[in-house]
Amino acid sequence: MDPKDELKELIDQTTEHLRYFRDLGVTHIGEATQTEMPKKKIELTSLFGGAEPIPVEQQYAGETLEDIRRDLGDCRRCKLWSTRKNIVFGEGNPKAGLMFVGEGPGADEDASGRPFVGRAGQLLTKMIEAMGFKREEVYIANTVKSRPPDNRTPEKEELETCIPFLFRQIAVIRPKVIVALGNPAQQSLLNSSIGITRMRGQFHDYPRIPGIKVMPTYHPAYLLRSPDKKREPDLKSPPVSWFARAEPPERGETRGKPGKILVKIL
Ligand code: SF4
Repeated sequence: MDPKDELKELIDQTTEHLRYFRDLGVTHIGEATQTEMPKKKIELTSLFGGAEPIPVEQQYAGETLEDIRRDLGDCRRCKLWSTRKNIVFGEGNPKAGLMFVGEGPGADEDASGRPFVGRAGQLLTKMIEAMGFKREEVYIANTVKSRPPDNRTPEKEELETCIPFLFRQIAVIRPKVIVALGNPAQQSLLNSSIGITRMRGQFHDYPRIPGIKVMPTYHPAYLLRSPDKKREPDLKSPPVSWFARAEPPERGETRGKPGKILVKIL
């Protein structure tokens, strides 16, 4: 047979095989070894063109936080790996109704491998407690899991590489409310280019999973630098804690009334 015809026949057969697997519901083929390389998955749909990529929530349905941590491994998927000491995966209640998402680990977090343990973390803990929660009742994570050098803002490519892991964590935890701390967090979670000044203090729908609300507010590190902003009522009006607990307020209840929570923080 002519080599060109042979090649065409081979391509036709391979295409037919892939179509067959796609029709069976198989969505990916092939995985690189995780410790050496990023997990590469070939989207079958991309071979045929036209179809939307499958969201990570569907690709990884049924997994646990432990599965995600295992998949992350000693991640070197973006260049932030080369300057970090520890990956900061996130911590807290895996069934939390309330989740906090910050920008990225700082020096203290990088050293300890835990999110929000420095000065900003202490303020965040006060904010959590002022909302009527214990820190261990909520879940805390960041948009990137390795510290950007000198605490710079994560670059677009770093965010795009790392954030699918956060999306998977959110899909497992299924919080009722996510408090987005600062601009990179709220823009990434809401797929928005609008700044924090306009977005903060109002509930927005989390676009990836129906029923989850996102409340953008200032990052605690910013509040430490601009103490006057602590008086903004983002986390108390409307009352985030009521939504997060899914408990309607009792008639006459004063919990979360404007003016209460941040006075407590200050
Ligand atoms: S920031 Fe995320 S993607 Fe980049 S190396 Fe760290 S864990 Fe991996």
